[in-house]
Amino acid sequence: MNFNKKLQDIKTYEAGKPIELVVRDFGIEPKDIVKLASNENPYGCSPKVQEEVGAIVSKMALYPDDSMFELKGLLAKRFGVSDKNIIIGSGSDQVIEFIMHAKADENSKILMNSVTFAMYEIYAKHIGASVVRTASQEHNMDEFYELYKSEKPDIIFLCTPNNPTGDAIDAEAMMEFIAKVDADTLVVVDGAYMEYAAHKDKSKSVIPKELIERFSNVVYLGTFSKAYGLGGMRVGYGVASEYIIEELYKLRPPFNVTTLSLKAAAIALEDDAFVNNCIASNFDEMKRYEEFAKQQKMDIIESYTNFVTLCLRKPHDATEISDALLKKGMIVRNLRGYGLNAIRVTIGMPEQNSKFFALMQELL
Ligand code: PMP
Repeated sequence: MNFNKKLQDIKTYEAGKPIELVVRDFGIEPKDIVKLASNENPYGCSPKVQEEVGAIVSKMALYPDDSMFELKGLLAKRFGVSDKNIIIGSGSDQVIEFIMHAKADENSKILMNSVTFAMYEIYAKHIGASVVRTASQEHNMDEFYELYKSEKPDIIFLCTPNNPTGDAIDAEAMMEFIAKVDADTLVVVDGAYMEYAAHKDKSKSVIPKELIERFSNVVYLGTFSKAYGLGGMRVGYGVASEYIIEELYKLRPPFNVTTLSLKAAAIALEDDAFVNNCIASNFDEMKRYEEFAKQQKMDIIESYTNFVTLCLRKPHDATEISDALLKKGMIVRNLRGYGLNAIRVTIGMPEQNSKFFALMQELL
């Protein structure tokens, strides 16, 4: 059977391996498996979420509130914008998909960092747009500007902090860059991990309200999957000018976020104390990774988020190391697919991190 030709050279996105797979393939007990592969919050979500979501389980027969009134209102209040500036997706992934379909076609170029979140390229390929990448591993605004001038992209993705490397863009440099981009080029600022960067270093903190007040051509993306500990609920959002949001809405399927997910996100958003504690613990534990890397003479990319990228040196190989860890019940992310001899490890709880260090020591 012939399928859409645009799909021919798409490599299916490889998600972090689920615990269930390791149970099935290696016969390891779930309690002995540690998953540090998908940048989830190891402490889960606010305990208030379970209570409130449990209380509305009886509403599952009814379609969700498609206006998403409660969550939109809370996000609007949080960011000091109007609810007309917000779109909510089944994960921010879905908002990325809307953006691509709304702005690009097969003649478009999409500019992104050399190493960055894989879905930008996959969605670009869905519609046959071509991808242009910078050369440097970290976002370099000068390089972005040179390529912007020569390639005239329709969409520019800036991922800060960046997945999978963990580095973050200086917010002022980013604003200066966007100011030089013409208003018909859509700039996407993916802040999936922004809560972490804002905690670690104010100079990396991007404020959605400032962005959209200053620029009519920017979409800021956020998610409940990371700091808010709701990866399983699939809720993300975009913040942009009303005009952009109206266009994105044309692509949104009805009821794209479930009743339980909307409620979970609304409750999680209000529990700042929980999220702040998780973030503080994340950076405490990150120090142990930095120390470990130093002891092992391994390069570690300075991280502004909830994972670290450990660069391996020959003869150590990222595929061999991540496979060996997997057999011992430790799931990490092999970055070979991104062209790096490196592994990406989500910062876990203290005992999970200790287990990672112990297993790595056996392998190195
Ligand atoms: N952007 C970045 C940079 C990510 O790392 C991810 C998840 N890995 C997403 C967006 C999508 O997140 P979600 O769909 O869970 O909101």
